[in-house]
Amino acid sequence: MRQFIVLLALFYVCEGVTFGQLCSGNPNNRRRTTDGWGQGHFGAGRTNRRHEGLDIVCDDGAVVYAPVDVTLVRKVIVYNKPEKAAIDSGIMMRGEGLCFKLFYVQPDRTTGTVRKGERIGVMLPMQSVYPGITSHVHVQMCDKSDPTPYF
Ligand code: ZN
Repeated sequence: MRQFIVLLALFYVCEGVTFGQLCSGNPNNRRRTTDGWGQGHFGAGRTNRRHEGLDIVCDDGAVVYAPVDVTLVRKVIVYNKPEKAAIDSGIMMRGEGLCFKLFYVQPDRTTGTVRKGERIGVMLPMQSVYPGITSHVHVQMCDKSDPTPYF
């Protein structure tokens, strides 16, 4: 019985998480829909694969905020390709029962704790790599599950 209650409590905590504003200039976490480079929803088609995250609109150079109370885990290399070096950075974090990565962000730091709504970094110059795209932060859960329910 005790194990059941613990499970129920965990389920409740994880289900209840809602991400706060991720990026300055986008208070409602507006999502990337369709542009000349593709679509932003989880599971959208990509060449030989599926889009493994959800894209949240974020202008180049905008300030990126912690969407929940988090512990920063490490910096992330997104592509490891020289032609995409300008945006080849992100950060992995854990908080409120979730583990996730934000791509295309230059983090201010990569360890420590940050409260929800506090600055964690800056949106990288995505237009320099993908001209005309809807510039965005890519949100990807560490277990590759769908992040959409948290928005
Ligand atoms: Zn994406």
